[in-house]
Amino acid sequence: MTGTPVRVVLATFNAHKSAELSALLGLPGLEFAPLSAFPAAGPVEEDGGTLEENAAKKAAAAARASGLWALADDTGLEVRALGGAPGVHSARYAGEGCSFSDNNAKLLRALEGLPHEARSARFRCVMALSSPGGLVETAEGSVEGFILAAPRGAGGFGYDPLFLPAGLDRTLAELTPGEKNGLSHRAAAVRAIRPLLERLAGA
Ligand code: IMP
Repeated sequence: MTGTPVRVVLATFNAHKSAELSALLGLPGLEFAPLSAFPAAGPVEEDGGTLEENAAKKAAAAARASGLWALADDTGLEVRALGGAPGVHSARYAGEGCSFSDNNAKLLRALEGLPHEARSARFRCVMALSSPGGLVETAEGSVEGFILAAPRGAGGFGYDPLFLPAGLDRTLAELTPGEKNGLSHRAAAVRAIRPLLERLAGA
């Protein structure tokens, strides 16, 4: 690696996600910039049928708006008893404009009465890296766990208070940010895409 670091835009307006990604992405040779620094960047409609499509769409849109490399993630909570739902619809599970707690309340209703062992789920995260010209590569990571019958914890965001990672006795929302970043779907996806980022840093 020589000279000026390569700038990469983090293609998200979600402050929680941005903080987690920034903590996970320390890489010599790369400098990460927030999407908010680019006035031409706006929210992207996440209307793809898969996490891969949405992640690629967000990364390519951010690359176009900034003229830089861009990294995006799209995450879904896949609950086995619900056939993989909410999945790609995780953000708007309870409807357009819904809050995290609306989504959590809907999920609890959907699983009402099911015993713990029937409430298995995973978070799946797809990370997409786009070149300034819009060429996209993706990688994914996941974490397995169970959906509790009531929320616990105040950390993290989204479905974290309901998600108990397999083998742990604390939800993602009860972990410290460092602990969540040690085992999360996002951390696994960052590990999976790291070789591409290292290649970029060395280019
Ligand atoms: P996105 O489309 O990748 O922003 O994520 C879709 C939805 O999944 C978000 O609105 C959150 O409800 C949820 N989500 C994404 N990442 C996480 C996470 O790390 N923990 C809990 N929920 C998450």
